[in-house]
Amino acid sequence: MKIALSGIGKIARDQHIPALEASEDWELAATISRSGQVEGVEHFTDLGAFLEARPDIEVISFCQPPVPRYALARQALEAGRHVMLEKPPGATLAEVHDLARLAGERGRTLYTTWHSRMAAGVSVAKDWLATREVTGGRIDWIEDVKQWHPGQDWVFEPGGLGVFDPGINALSILTEILPRPVFLTEATLEVPENRQTPIAAQLQFTQGIEARFDWREAGPPTWNMEIETAEGSVKLIRGGSRVEIAGEAVETGPHAEYPALYERMAELVLHGTQDVDLAPMVLVADAMSLGRRESVAAFEW
Ligand code: NAP
Repeated sequence: MKIALSGIGKIARDQHIPALEASEDWELAATISRSGQVEGVEHFTDLGAFLEARPDIEVISFCQPPVPRYALARQALEAGRHVMLEKPPGATLAEVHDLARLAGERGRTLYTTWHSRMAAGVSVAKDWLATREVTGGRIDWIEDVKQWHPGQDWVFEPGGLGVFDPGINALSILTEILPRPVFLTEATLEVPENRQTPIAAQLQFTQGIEARFDWREAGPPTWNMEIETAEGSVKLIRGGSRVEIAGEAVETGPHAEYPALYERMAELVLHGTQDVDLAPMVLVADAMSLGRRESVAAFEW
């Protein structure tokens, strides 16, 4: 199937383009971007012009940050296209509900992707936890914003989520692997005095699970999660690319998050269905709603 990629920035180049080039399901037939192009692929700078010129390309994958993405996704659905969204699927929950309603009315696919759920260890952890009672857990999602989002001011603007931009990846895994739903009970948000969104957060959830997200750590990132049960714990390491059960490493399939997302999108389009899950975003919205704010040192790149 032909697909267009909209928003040719960091994640489009790092992951989407290589995944599409390697895919047997998809042909990258056009790009839509104000700033970037892919050699040998037809290029548009404006979504409206693309929709007019290429009615044969029925699927569009949007790779913008959350705030500018909604209006574009709506325009695409109104023009009868299937839509795939980077995470987080929107700047607000209501706008994603609006897109899902519109997709349903038009009989189009909307896929709110969560790439971290495709990490190799996630399904292993989910299967192991399925028959067990969770007694506690700990998430550490710690990295250097200067390394992972160099100069991307949108992460510190309203709707950019701050440290929840990576943190929501952990929450997408958590909400996938737990056998019972989890919700937030307490949060502390550390917001630089010159910015709008948190640079660090401490979160407490039901089922005895706590999390620390921090963007101020230079050096290699820590993306780990350990969920405890009476029969030992399952540990997801390096964003879920490795998994240990009761201290023993477990073999997994290959680690290929974005190829798996595009495989899933192909299935959804072929079967005419949607995949819209807002559970990770609900936890972030609740942290923003309930969290105690602390003003911390100004942040500059
Ligand atoms: P980015 O490079 O800063 O921006 C991606 C593209 O979005 C830009 O090329 C630009 O599109 C468009 N854009 C940016 N700001 C815009 C604005 N204010 N108005 C309209 N368009 C705007 O961002 P990114 O790092 O790729 O992240 C994009 C999304 O992917 C985010 O939701 C992020 O959470 C997710 N993601 C990022 C990473 C990562 O490592 N960076 C990893 C996984 C997921 P044009 O092409 O039109 O110029």
